[in-house]
Amino acid sequence: MFKKATEKNKLDNWFDSCKDQPHELPLISIDINQMISSHRMRIIPESLIKVNVVFADCGSLACICKSDEGYATIFFHSILNNADTPVQVFEHIVIHELIHIRVPSREVDGKMKSHPPEFWEEEKIFSPERIYVWEWLIDNFYDVVRRDEEKEMTIVLRKWRKKKYTYKDWWLYINNLERYKFDKEMVL
Ligand SMILES: [Zn+2]
Repeated sequence: MFKKATEKNKLDNWFDSCKDQPHELPLISIDINQMISSHRMRIIPESLIKVNVVFADCGSLACICKSDEGYATIFFHSILNNADTPVQVFEHIVIHELIHIRVPSREVDGKMKSHPPEFWEEEKIFSPERIYVWEWLIDNFYDVVRRDEEKEMTIVLRKWRKKKYTYKDWWLYINNLERYKFDKEMVL
């Protein structure tokens, strides 16, 4: 999801609490800044916005928050801050959040949507592996990941800290797609 920091609406409190969470040292095994650089060249090649990355226990699986000072912060939930989180999961999330810079929120049927129909068209083009990514996320975190239609986000329940997760191998999902049905857009 995407939010301009100065806009006042029902999400403000949530974003403020998100930003106030302690930032964690990344435990991941990839260069996330390098990943962002390569994807922004194809998704937002004209944009000069500076994009930061933060890992925090922020309630949402991921989101991007833009400031008026010309930078944006991608928040990754702490549950993803693990060396065994597949690179493809980070890749999809980075792509999704950068598309929020490319495709602004707009009103659809009288309601402000941060994921208007054209957003999903762009996501299909830029992130062909998104189906596998969602299967990985749902399969690994099924007991704590929930979709919030109203806020257009995927939340991580607080109880996630009580459990030790095993981060399954990516290839299990690539090889078993026929097991899954992907009938809904999932939101970040
Ligand atoms: Zn989103």
